[in-house]
Amino acid sequence: MHISRLLLILFLLLLVFTKCEDQKEDQPVPETEEGSWVIYSPLKWTHDGYPITGTFCKVYSDGASYSLKQQCLEFSDRMFIDVLNQFSFDKYDDLQFPPENKSRINVYIDTDHGVNVAYAYWGTIFIAIKTPSLDTSRYDYLFKHELTHEFEFLIEGQCNLGTDVWFREAIAIYCGGGFDYIQTVEDIENWIQENEHYPGKGNPIMIHVWDDFPEGADITGYYCKVFDITMKYLLDPVGLNKSIQDVLSLFYDVRNGSSFGDAFENNFGLSLEIFEEEYYDRITAYLEALNS
Ligand SMILES: [Zn+2]
Repeated sequence: MHISRLLLILFLLLLVFTKCEDQKEDQPVPETEEGSWVIYSPLKWTHDGYPITGTFCKVYSDGASYSLKQQCLEFSDRMFIDVLNQFSFDKYDDLQFPPENKSRINVYIDTDHGVNVAYAYWGTIFIAIKTPSLDTSRYDYLFKHELTHEFEFLIEGQCNLGTDVWFREAIAIYCGGGFDYIQTVEDIENWIQENEHYPGKGNPIMIHVWDDFPEGADITGYYCKVFDITMKYLLDPVGLNKSIQDVLSLFYDVRNGSSFGDAFENNFGLSLEIFEEEYYDRITAYLEALNS
């Protein structure tokens, strides 16, 4: 898929992550409409007291105009429906929101943050928008990426996602629309070469938690090239030939107490250890088959 240079730059500028371990250290304060922050949040954010509510989302902001909030509400509802459709998901009552959310995803539009960031955590996505109106063509990928993380949170129903970082990022990239950085055997060989000084030579399956990114590695881009090709491999009939329903089933296994390793093996028929060991052989064979 072609993406504009602008979107690429935006993407690289954004530090996108989904951790909320900090939450335990915070003193949770209940959300109020007057301006406060939500429980389960790694970020304390204040809002103007005028959130607006849609079908799935509720938009808050520190200073966005009513029309920008309206635009973001319509867009985030539409993007979340797109994510639900990708998973063929219509059991809305089965989504597990944090108690204070009242069945809506908080979408926090940050207009006054020092740097461009996007986060997802249980019940909330947080996106910096500095323009007076939303250029939806630039934000399509980003909203879908963060709302895919949110969908996983709402299936698993807990503060910390139970999947490995490589898997949660790969499915968010996939549902966001994916990239086309790695398309040939030469592309994957270049990736290995770029990462040959790191343990595993950039093998993404080694990235179980955020701290597993090798020091000095492309963390801002957070391995998006290999995460992207990994989910394509898992779901492509030419690759492992599993389906997005297997991803959903994995999320449910995690909800029901499975470790990620067990849930992965249960739904993908492959142990994490073997996948890590055979990773480059499998991706190379996949790319050869794709291009034959
Ligand atoms: Zn992400």
